Amino acid sequence: MERFVEEALVLGTVDYGEADRLVTLFTKGAGKLTAFAAGARKSRRRFAGALEPCTWLKAQLVERRGTTLRLDGVDVVRSFSGLRGDLSRIGRALYVVELCRELVRDREPHPELFDATTSWLGRLEEGLAGPTSLLAFELEALSLAGLRPRFDACSLCGGPLGGEPRFDAAHGGGVCAGCQARASGAVRVAPELLEALAALQAGQRTPLGAPVRARARALLNAFISHHLGRELRSVEFLKQLGVD
Ligand SMILES: [Zn+2]
Repeated sequence: MERFVEEALVLGTVDYGEADRLVTLFTKGAGKLTAFAAGARKSRRRFAGALEPCTWLKAQLVERRGTTLRLDGVDVVRSFSGLRGDLSRIGRALYVVELCRELVRDREPHPELFDATTSWLGRLEEGLAGPTSLLAFELEALSLAGLRPRFDACSLCGGPLGGEPRFDAAHGGGVCAGCQARASGAVRVAPELLEALAALQAGQRTPLGAPVRARARALLNAFISHHLGRELRSVEFLKQLGVD
């Protein structure tokens, strides 16, 4: 039996039996883990509402060979409770949590993505993270997870994208006119859109106008759906809220 403590973000919970809960965690040092929280639905003392999605914890975990990990106790590092009173912030937070859940594999550590996510949720709670910042976070998260889309050059030949670029999710980004025959799924995009995304990727934080954001959102949704095999559920929730 091995005991260990991990900083973790709660990604979601599923009720189990009469009183227990299975908790999916994005841990800083061990990637995604699912742990069994005995009595989590009854014992207010032990977990005290700390298993809500988006809560940042120090999780005390116990590993026994051949069984599910056990969550023994938690200390809240930051509850992000300020997010929960505002629907647009809830929508963005749930989107980010779902993106992490899909990008991170079981037991595959991504400590930089963990830090980027907790820090972004902190800015969201403080009212400092608007729609452009969400796009920037997604680009950073994709890069940190090894799925960096390329917007500054052709993802097939590495040459300049030119005045009539395409975008092909399967090939990982922009495609120049000369390579389009090799990229059957490529769609025409405005050069300004790829330039705006390249600038965000390079760290520029000038807020984008709503029309550019809408096109950037559609392009990122296509890229993420292609690589994850499905559209994130919270995309629809954000649409219903009218939030980007
Ligand atoms: Zn090319």
